[in-house]
Amino acid sequence: MIKKFLNSPGPTAVPPEILSDMAQPLIHHRTPKFSDIIKENHAMLKNIFMTQNPVITLTSSGTGAMEASISNFLSRGSKILVISAGKFGERFGEIGRAYGADVIELKAPYGKDVKAGEAAEVFRNNPLIEAVYTEYSESSTGVAFDIKGFAELTHNTEAILVVDGITAIGAMEFKMDDWGVDVAIAGSQKSFMIPPGLSFIGVSEKASKKMDKAGMPRFYFDLKKEIKSLENSTTAWTPAITLIMGLNRALKMMGKEGIENIIRRHHIIAEIIRSSLKSIGLELQAAPGVRPSDTLTAVKVPAGLDGIKIPGIMRDRYGVTIAGGQDTLRGKIFRLGHLGYVDKSDILIVLQALELTLKDVGYKFEPGKSIFTAQKMIMENYIF
Ligand SMILES: *Cc1c(COP(=O)(O)O)cnc(C)c1O
Repeated sequence: MIKKFLNSPGPTAVPPEILSDMAQPLIHHRTPKFSDIIKENHAMLKNIFMTQNPVITLTSSGTGAMEASISNFLSRGSKILVISAGKFGERFGEIGRAYGADVIELKAPYGKDVKAGEAAEVFRNNPLIEAVYTEYSESSTGVAFDIKGFAELTHNTEAILVVDGITAIGAMEFKMDDWGVDVAIAGSQKSFMIPPGLSFIGVSEKASKKMDKAGMPRFYFDLKKEIKSLENSTTAWTPAITLIMGLNRALKMMGKEGIENIIRRHHIIAEIIRSSLKSIGLELQAAPGVRPSDTLTAVKVPAGLDGIKIPGIMRDRYGVTIAGGQDTLRGKIFRLGHLGYVDKSDILIVLQALELTLKDVGYKFEPGKSIFTAQKMIMENYIF
C-alpha cells in the first residue's frame, strides 16, 4: 500500500471538510442562498487581499485572470512593461502580444529577481508605459519579487501595477491597498485549499477608471460586468458553484486561523524546508541573496543525477507528488510545494520521500539528516 500526498506548488491538497462540503447536493446560482455565499466570500476575499476595492471571482484557472488583466485595462498598441525571471512572468508577455499590446520585457535569469531600481530606469526611459506586469512569487523558480518596490514606480503616475500573486496571496504578506497594487491576481488551487477552477482578481479605483477607456476585445472575462454583478451579489455567467461552496468553507477556515498566523505558518515551514534541504547538501534555485518564496522551494538537481526521474520516483514509489522543472529547467530542478493546507507533518512527509528518492538516483548524503534537521527546528518553533 502506498499512501498518497499532494505536495506540489499547485494544485495543492484539499482538506476533507472542504471535500465533503463540495459533495453536497448542488444548489442553483440564482438563489438568495447562493447570493449570501457570494457576499460572504467577497468580504473574506477582501480581507485576504487587504483591500477595500472589489475582488472578483472568475470561473477559470489563474491564467484566465492573467488574460483578463491584459484585455480589461489596455487597448491595441498599449505599451506595457513585463518584469519577469521565470515562466509565469513571461506568460504576461505572451498574453500581451496575443492581444496586440506593445510589450517591453525586463528579464532576469531564472533564480534571480529584478531589482526595483533596474525597473525604475526602464520605466523612466519609456514614459508611454501604461501598465507594469509582474510576479510576486515566481512558481517556476521559487523566487519572491519586491512588489512594494515596484509599486513605487507606478505610484503618482497614470500607469497601473498588475501583480500575479497566484502562489503568494493568502500565504505571504500582501497588502494590496497599502502597497499600491492596482490589479492583484490569485488562484483557487494554490493557497486557497480548493481544487483548480476559480481565479480571483482585485481591482483598484485607479485600475477601474482605466478600464473605462480600455479598447481591447473581451466578452467572457468582462470585469466591468463582473463588478456590476458582484454589487448585486451574483456573477455574470454560471459560475463553478461547487467550487464557490468549497471556497466559502476554505475562507472561513482561513479567517479562523487569521491571515497573520497563516503567513507565519508558511514562513516557518519554508524556513525549515530550506534549512533541511541544505543540511544534505542541496542547493536552492533561488540565488543567494535573493528572497526565496515561502510557498514553494525549487531545488537544483545535484550534478551527475538524472533529475527528470526524481518527481516520478517520488510519486510512484513513495506516494508524494511534487513538480519538476519547466522548459529550460526541466531535469535541472524539482519543486516542492508548501502552501495552503500544510503543517509540520507535511515537512517530514516530503523530506522522508525525498531522501528515499535521492538514494534511489544515487545521491550521497547522510540518511535521515534532513529529517533530523527539520524535526529539531519544528521543536524549536512549535507554533502550529
Ligand atoms: C499556478 C500559477 C499560475 C496559473 O496557472 P493556471 O494553471 O492557469 O492556474 C500563474 N502564475 C503563477 C505564479 C502560478 O503559480
